[in-house]
Amino acid sequence: MKSFAAELAYFVRGRARQNLKVLALYGLFLLVLILLYASLFRYLMLELEGREYSFIAGIYWTITVMTTLGFGDITFHSDTGFIFATLVTLSGVIFLLIILPFGLVSLFLAPWIEQRLRYRPTYELAASTSGHILIFGIDPIIRAFIRKLQARNLLFVVVTDNYDQALMLEEQEGFKVVYGAPTDAQVLRGLRVKTARYVVANLSDPENANVCLTLRSLCQTPVVTLVRDSDHQELLRLAGANQVIALPRILGRFLATRATTHGAMAHVLDSFGALQIAEIPLYGTPFAGKTLAESAIRQQTGLSVIGLWRRGQLSLPTPDSILAPDSLALLAGSREQLQALELLIGNPTADDLVFVLGHGRIGCAAATFLERKPVPFVLIDQRRSTSCRKHVPVYGDATDRETLQKAGFDRASGVIVTTNDDNTNVFLTLASRHLNPHIRIVARANQDENIDQLYAAGADFVVSNASVGATILMNLLDRKESAFLSEGMHLFRRPVPTELIGKTLEASRLRPELGCSVVALKNAADEMNTTPEPKTLLQADLTLLLIGSAEQEKAFDRRYPRTENA
Ligand code: ADP
Ligand code: ZN
Repeated sequence: MKSFAAELAYFVRGRARQNLKVLALYGLFLLVLILLYASLFRYLMLELEGREYSFIAGIYWTITVMTTLGFGDITFHSDTGFIFATLVTLSGVIFLLIILPFGLVSLFLAPWIEQRLRYRPTYELAASTSGHILIFGIDPIIRAFIRKLQARNLLFVVVTDNYDQALMLEEQEGFKVVYGAPTDAQVLRGLRVKTARYVVANLSDPENANVCLTLRSLCQTPVVTLVRDSDHQELLRLAGANQVIALPRILGRFLATRATTHGAMAHVLDSFGALQIAEIPLYGTPFAGKTLAESAIRQQTGLSVIGLWRRGQLSLPTPDSILAPDSLALLAGSREQLQALELLIGNPTADDLVFVLGHGRIGCAAATFLERKPVPFVLIDQRRSTSCRKHVPVYGDATDRETLQKAGFDRASGVIVTTNDDNTNVFLTLASRHLNPHIRIVARANQDENIDQLYAAGADFVVSNASVGATILMNLLDRKESAFLSEGMHLFRRPVPTELIGKTLEASRLRPELGCSVVALKNAADEMNTTPEPKTLLQADLTLLLIGSAEQEKAFDRRYPRTENA
């Protein structure tokens, strides 16, 4: 049944779809012809032979004559009538019995058989293949990852044991595809896993575990798995995965972080030794609306503002940058400095109440995160969760205004919109904005195409599953310091270049000339200086921790090529 549906799907794609339009037009033409003949039949019968027939009878006569059935129950008795009947029979033979079947065969059947015969799936890669990235399991996240791979001209191969999917991915999307079961050692050998650069396993958790075990019996190629249930993380590691990404948990945390300003410490994204990177929504803080210089964040807390997120765009701030209330500040500094910030912004949102719409895996992760802060929240879902026992949601359809109002939506300071359907998410965003104009809306986009619609519907922050997932995968592939989660933003570590030894940070002109900034300095004893001053001296034993775009990182390496011992 499934493959029948897949075959049917063939007819609504590409050229077949175009042909379907031609067929529809032809059908319309036949219909008009039949109606015309039926009317003519009635007119001639009445005029020539004085007999009156209904319109239905006219259509019945036309069809029996056109299909050459001609039962003979209604017949003409005059020459003109015979001529008319002959004409109808002939046109029936031409239009119905010759052109129609011919068209169906040449427009649909032949191309379909041709495609079936032509497509020969690939079963293995050339023995010399190396440095390739193997991908098991395709979804919007992997598609976003593939777009990044394509942009960098990296060789990747998609592996699937579904014939129709293999055909579709190869013929329609132009991917390199191997047809075979990823859990079969023979197939893996044919995929040249030994010389592969990376394996991305994105199947179900048991299948991923199986892939990892099989792979580990063959080689040591790094494997990253995307885990469905975060409780399985440890098992997959045991099975041999080098990295296990629990995306729902990461996304849940991302959504929750943006939904409240509560407590700066709760916003730490990542840390590098003593250096912490945190992302704080500016809404509700004393800095909102000021310029970076006026806010004096650096002077008051020692933290550096290393980036500003607004509407999904990250920019490197200058002293004149405005700290807009609907943006996030990316901060770097020590734990103590973040605590100082926490004191400074106090608890402006002590009456925080966050609505979480959708108690799927991501919604559940967001709720867990809010619970830990703690920030009061209300979960809403239509169904009982199969995996979570600890949360008690309000049951109801979130698109129903009454459900929200009864649950106290007008008291909410933030809402996290996290169903698995983007149309519902757009609708819920619109409805939330309408019900509560000042509420902070954080929405999840399951497909990148819908990011703009969610912003247009009134979301303050949109978190895209696909781009977050793809960015993490790409960072792992590049062996970045961490899976630092900002598109286009990189944290990188370099020893102080010989040319700069003995200069001050200011004199190094890294920021004005290369665009990247030094966020911390680490000495040989692994002590971290997270507040480098312009006058700080760059000594030989120091390591620089820098932040900048991928281009800026490259520019740094061009200017200061890395030596062997670096
Ligand atoms: P994920 O695990 O990726 O978060 P799920 O499909 O498990 O995705 O979660 C989506 C959740 O959203 C489901 O539990 C579903 O019941 C819920 N949901 C979808 N639409 C609505 C709605 N209109 N009102 C309330 N809950 C909804
Ligand atoms: Zn839960």
